[in-house]
Amino acid sequence: MLFEENYQEEVTQFADVILPVPVPRLFTYRVPREFAGIVTAGVRVIVQFGKTKVVTAVVAKVHNSPPKEYQAKYILEILDDVPLVTTQQIDLFHWIAEYYMCCAGEVMNVALPSGLKITSQSKVQLNPEFEYPELLTEREKEIIEELKKHSSLSYDELARFAEVKNVYHLIKSLVGKRAIIVFEEVKEKYSPKIVRKVRLNSFYEETGNLTALIGELEKTPKQLEVLLQYLRYVPALRTPELNRKGLEKSTLMKAGISEGSLGTLVKNGVFEYFEVIISRFADLEPTQEAASIQLSGPQQKAFDEILQQFQQKDTVLFHGITGSGKTEIYIKLIELALESGSQVLYLLPEIALTTQIVVRLQKIFGDKLGVYHSKFSDNERVEVWKNIISGKYQFIIGVRSSVFLPFNNLGLIIVDEEHETSYKQYDPAPRYHAKDVALVIAQKQSAKVLLGSATPSIESYFHANQGRFGLVTLKERFGNAQLPEIELVDIKYARKHRLIKGGFSGLLLEQLKLNLEKKEQSILFQNRRGYSPYLQCEDCDWISTCHQCDVSLTYHYNGQELRCHYCGHREPLPRTCAACGSHKLKTMGYGTEKIEEELQQIFPEAKVGRMDLDTTRSKTAFQTLIGEVEKGAIDILVGTQMVTKGLDFEGVSLVGIFDADKMIHFPDFRASERAFQMITQVAGRAGRRDTRGKVIIQTNNPNQPILHQIIHNDYENLYREEISEREAFMYPPFSRLIKLTVKHFEQEIAHNAASLLALKLREKLGAPRVLGPEAPLVERVRNQFIFEVMIKLEKTIGLKGVKAFLSEQIQDVLLMKEFKGASIIPDVDCG
Ligand code: ADP
Ligand code: ZN
Ligand code: ZN
Repeated sequence: MLFEENYQEEVTQFADVILPVPVPRLFTYRVPREFAGIVTAGVRVIVQFGKTKVVTAVVAKVHNSPPKEYQAKYILEILDDVPLVTTQQIDLFHWIAEYYMCCAGEVMNVALPSGLKITSQSKVQLNPEFEYPELLTEREKEIIEELKKHSSLSYDELARFAEVKNVYHLIKSLVGKRAIIVFEEVKEKYSPKIVRKVRLNSFYEETGNLTALIGELEKTPKQLEVLLQYLRYVPALRTPELNRKGLEKSTLMKAGISEGSLGTLVKNGVFEYFEVIISRFADLEPTQEAASIQLSGPQQKAFDEILQQFQQKDTVLFHGITGSGKTEIYIKLIELALESGSQVLYLLPEIALTTQIVVRLQKIFGDKLGVYHSKFSDNERVEVWKNIISGKYQFIIGVRSSVFLPFNNLGLIIVDEEHETSYKQYDPAPRYHAKDVALVIAQKQSAKVLLGSATPSIESYFHANQGRFGLVTLKERFGNAQLPEIELVDIKYARKHRLIKGGFSGLLLEQLKLNLEKKEQSILFQNRRGYSPYLQCEDCDWISTCHQCDVSLTYHYNGQELRCHYCGHREPLPRTCAACGSHKLKTMGYGTEKIEEELQQIFPEAKVGRMDLDTTRSKTAFQTLIGEVEKGAIDILVGTQMVTKGLDFEGVSLVGIFDADKMIHFPDFRASERAFQMITQVAGRAGRRDTRGKVIIQTNNPNQPILHQIIHNDYENLYREEISEREAFMYPPFSRLIKLTVKHFEQEIAHNAASLLALKLREKLGAPRVLGPEAPLVERVRNQFIFEVMIKLEKTIGLKGVKAFLSEQIQDVLLMKEFKGASIIPDVDCG
């Protein structure tokens, strides 16, 4: 009986955890008795996975039923007192995994900053049961002696302390002789930022003691100097609280105090050292009240309409032209949401854009506002994460991955530039669209979503027309600003009549010159980085291509090398043609580097800046470039699509667009939409204040209808044409597309696997719903051949069943012997 009672008391708990692995299920672990009650949903735990691996997992659920198929292992360690992952997030991980056909573990893995995951490090220690010291070599004996001084050492430490070069070799031998044991030490990656501070021992805070101390120290002038310097920074006499906060040790060092004098004073008990954890972010006080922003009449009307529509609709599309002042309206809405006590998420497609907007928002929201993007370090990301959990950050502005942050009480999500493709993640899994994920989060947390854009996506506009979203339109620029005047230049004609210099038409050059004279700024948009996309032989037409991708290598002037923009391969610039040995190699086509170079030749006095992936790798590069344009240190800014989005420069009155045709003729059903968006957006950077701006588009065919829709800013016209085409060909929003990408190192195997897959899918889904297999534009990347099978599904078809079927078929094909080594990657709502 006694036994049974005991048993009753100690019902074993089990935890279902999400492991950071691509396996589509949860795993059950046993909760050690001492952790009972602390292990709850959302805490991170350390568990063993497989035979040797130790990983960070997140608890999804705690219950009392042991797994049937296997013996549950114990949870090894628990990392949090308070859950660092919200139950809302766990829900979301499952939703994303199911919708985007991946695993909750993959979602969790990208959601958690790696600073929140553990790392393991190999260490060695003496084997206490070691028996045969006579078997050791002299060198090994030395190592053992060294190890006796420490309880354990990492490989690096061992190499350093014992002064050995080939430490792995020695370790292997010592393990073989059973003299030492190798083990994995697990630790958290996140390290808080700690500063070493110094303060006066509290005994001396009081006036009398301090005066006596000064008298005493007169004999040792160096020590007296320490005290006087300290008192300069910390007027401890008047405010003991300030003394308790102390002074950073480094401040005293910078003031010329020696480490030794300070150390003596600490030893004598006059000063004491202490450490504090500080934030990696500057504490910013708001300097402006949201109320001080005066909306214009049309802005106020749009604002009121948005609020009114939110009464009935959860999502509102805000179609406001470039420069209409959407940000000011967002600020008012954010203010309202924060006042009501809920969290706000403001999504932007790109970091280039956050730089300017963050400055504007921080003035108003101070350090309630957290920022999150890819240039942040691991430690900074963890700090943002923790600040959301603690409630310090009520408001986050960030790029697409911000949808993974631990919100639990969102009231408003703004998706700015909602049409942007960079909201979609292509690789790796989860291949999610941040806008759609935002809509799901909003639904789960009863938040409102505002989709903002000057050029809405066809899909969103369709939903607004159908009444699923609300729609608010703002068709005026703020203040006296007008939309720019757009001119087309027939580049073919110009070339024929020699009205051209390098890549520049006469008209563009003339306007650039005028702008330089007027001291106004210009932006030039060329959607290719590097110097030139091809290097070609004049004698035999050979083109430099990547050895592992079917694509030409781009010539980069900076670095004098050829680079593959698909796989990252680099090689030195060849001097002769690889095919015929000729020395006549010429660069073909224009990249941003070449435009920059030609500009400098034509206008040697102009200050030219370049903004593309190559110039913005460092953390502060955007800020620096944007700052230079703002203060007028750059006359002409050349850039890739980074310059097209959201930037707000007062002095820019001219925009030049190269290669418009390439965007228009891209082989994709969204090409017209994208071209309209990109050109309209970059044009919108011109003339955002009092003077009307000018835009020059260089094209081979000025008669294309899309260019005229752009000139007249006729979004409605574009929409009507696009939507009827989409309907006729059953493209989104009338259908859903799921792309299955099949890859293999052998072309034939990739093709056969894709063909079989397509065949099997056609049998069940019907031929019209399955397209392909087809090779993409670039058929081979990193030596893998690629074939795509596209599934096109009417909106009325239940997705769940289809996806389950697809997963099954994919598994079937992958398990076939002849397709060994193939991979098949599903992409739901692709591109
Ligand atoms: P959009 O995002 O719609 O292209 P912005 O929000 O960047 O436009 O606004 C364009 C410019 O007009 C910005 O410099 C902004 O500060 C200014 N602006 C807009 N509305 C106001 C307002 N109500 N008061 C003062 N300045 C404003
Ligand atoms: Zn040649
Ligand atoms: Zn390559």
